[in-house]
Amino acid sequence: LDDTSQQRTGTVPDRVRRQIISGAAAAALCPALGGTARAAAPLAGRQVPGVHRMRLGTFEVTALLDGYQNTDPRVLAIDPELLGVLLAAAQLPAGPIQIAVNAFAINTGERLLLIDCGAGTSLGPTLGRLPQAMTLAGIDPAQVDEVLLTHAHPDHIGGMIGAQGDALFPNATLRLAEQDLAYWSSAENEARESARKIRYVVFKRVLSAYAGRVRAFAAGETIAPGVQSLPAPGHTAGHSLYMIESQGARLLAIGDTLHINAVQFSRPEVTIAYDTDTAQARATRRFVLDRAASEQLLIAAAHLPFPGIGHVRREGASYAFMPIPWQIY
Ligand SMILES: [Zn+2]
Repeated sequence: LDDTSQQRTGTVPDRVRRQIISGAAAAALCPALGGTARAAAPLAGRQVPGVHRMRLGTFEVTALLDGYQNTDPRVLAIDPELLGVLLAAAQLPAGPIQIAVNAFAINTGERLLLIDCGAGTSLGPTLGRLPQAMTLAGIDPAQVDEVLLTHAHPDHIGGMIGAQGDALFPNATLRLAEQDLAYWSSAENEARESARKIRYVVFKRVLSAYAGRVRAFAAGETIAPGVQSLPAPGHTAGHSLYMIESQGARLLAIGDTLHINAVQFSRPEVTIAYDTDTAQARATRRFVLDRAASEQLLIAAAHLPFPGIGHVRREGASYAFMPIPWQIY
């Protein structure tokens, strides 16, 4: 393009005008010429299953998207004005936001472990897509040796059973912290939290489907070579993290250490209404984010935007999340 002539005259140069006119003329002729027009491809009308795979040492980590949960951001304990500013800065609506629900398959080469299982049919139609994601990933539910729960909320355990309460992982042992097993088995807790009865209903259905295959662990117990549980109480009494390590490469599955990335990295003191003990959850979040930043750990989170894997950077008293790039191998 001849910039100088444009600047001089403020009009489109003749040569360009000729090209535009000849292009328009050619387009007008196309139907008459035949053979160059293409039919529009039909729209799919739905999202593809969410699968993301990466290597960790000799292990393979597959993030699996169960779907999303519409969440009112006012479940966060934060000044509404500040909340509005943080959401707007992240280009998020002030109303309900879509929070991802992620699960992670860890193949150590000897054992296939699944960290959390999504919601199944327990929380509505925006969730329960783990089976499709597993199919796309080529993972047969019968291959799963152990399901490792970060905690026993419905969006993490509901996917262990089908709509009829049947066990979807026929060979898997259910592993969870002994504190969570005790807490959600307690009739006293259930009576006190009658407004949240659904949590107890789903827990009981899952436990009965896996009767004889439930093995609770003590905080800090090694689950398998290269897989260690770490206590991270607050969100629930037995909320647990899993450190996955192979050949020096490490990934920390942090479960529900945080829920809303647009707010809780920059303001880690902000708690959420879903926590059993908000003060403890706040202290745990600071500890986990600080450790992840200091040790340059990869984290894998249940509710960060899919695949929910990345690094944490410290920024003064705040943190920032750096998602990992797509890895081809
Ligand atoms: Zn959750």
